[in-house]
Amino acid sequence: MTRPAPILPGALLGVLGGGQLGRMFAVAAKRMGYRVAVLAPAGRTPTGQLSDLEFEAAYDDLDEIVRFARAVDVVTFEFENVATEATEAAAQHAPVRPAGSVLQATQNRLRERELLDRLGLPCAPHAPVRSAEELEAAVARVGVPAVLKTAAWGYDGKGQVRIATAAAAAPAWEQLEHAACLYEAFVDFEAEISVVGARGHDGAVALYEPSANAHVDHVLDVSVVPAGLPPEVDHEARAIAAAVLEGLDLVGVACIEMFLRSDGTLLVNEIAPRPHNSGHLTIEACDTSQFEAQVRAVCALPLGSTARLGGGAAMANLLGDLWTVGEPAWVAALEHSGASLHLYGKGEPRPGRKMGHLTVVGGSPTEAERRVRSARTALTGPR
Ligand code: AMP
Repeated sequence: MTRPAPILPGALLGVLGGGQLGRMFAVAAKRMGYRVAVLAPAGRTPTGQLSDLEFEAAYDDLDEIVRFARAVDVVTFEFENVATEATEAAAQHAPVRPAGSVLQATQNRLRERELLDRLGLPCAPHAPVRSAEELEAAVARVGVPAVLKTAAWGYDGKGQVRIATAAAAAPAWEQLEHAACLYEAFVDFEAEISVVGARGHDGAVALYEPSANAHVDHVLDVSVVPAGLPPEVDHEARAIAAAVLEGLDLVGVACIEMFLRSDGTLLVNEIAPRPHNSGHLTIEACDTSQFEAQVRAVCALPLGSTARLGGGAAMANLLGDLWTVGEPAWVAALEHSGASLHLYGKGEPRPGRKMGHLTVVGGSPTEAERRVRSARTALTGPR
């Protein structure tokens, strides 16, 4: 496959979505001399604050999407729940990377599972639920305990109900308002890991090393690299990630989240066709950050090195809850050696809202994790 003409610095890169992922993409793009345009339903978003051009429009406002696509040299995403009509409309006027078909395959959990099954990649036993009959069949086939997840628009554990007994299945589905769902066996995992990877037009793939991820209330809390996996598990995780990137024919960056079971086997949980929270530590910890990798991939440039610098690195999310006792003690946190602060420019620190993160690079992974947790704890200590 030949590489299309590269999109060179000075060009205008369009990002759909105004959150922190777009903001960090904009930082990487602008550092490399690109200009950035954002389309989001609000103005002055975390991405908009750093962009050269803001299009304030809903993701289904096809007229504005077309105006946006006409203005930019390439369209990419930081938010994947964009309808096919919107990506198709954009694709008439600018290259869309990754393609709308990639978003379509990953934004719905049933289609995502179909893709994994087609590629022969491992995931938990599962069944679709779109009717009472399918629910009954799913309980019979997959058993309990299980998790019922809405097929569309779910993230960070939203739209998920745990099912302990067969009798709990019908009320759980009712709780999810009888939406189309994925019924999935509950996985008794030992650890959660993820692999972020970039893929170019020429099929070149650059994978970051797997990270170990700890969640609290279904939301990512802390990521650590290296993950300390046995070599064969590390190898398998990377092989699964590469197969997903290739299977999707993705041009851009994606993250593949996986469960690691005590027998050393991996199960894919989720695919995000964009940079991921577990890859934020690549900004300080790697030769090329996941956001620079996204710029390079969508601009048809060489992907760059994903190698880690230094011994270990850890990232801790800063949720709005940290603000409940007043403005966090930034000075105390930054006294921690090797700590880098990222804040996303969000006005209102609501509980559960991702407001920023801290990264520590240095020492061993255990030491980096200890320091990043300590820096975060210092935020709510005496100031
Ligand atoms: P998701 O929105 O599917 O990424 O799920 C969010 C979190 O819920 C995951 O990171 C896991 O901690 C947990 N979870 C999701 N699915 C399962 C499962 N089948 N078994 C056990 N835990 C799960």
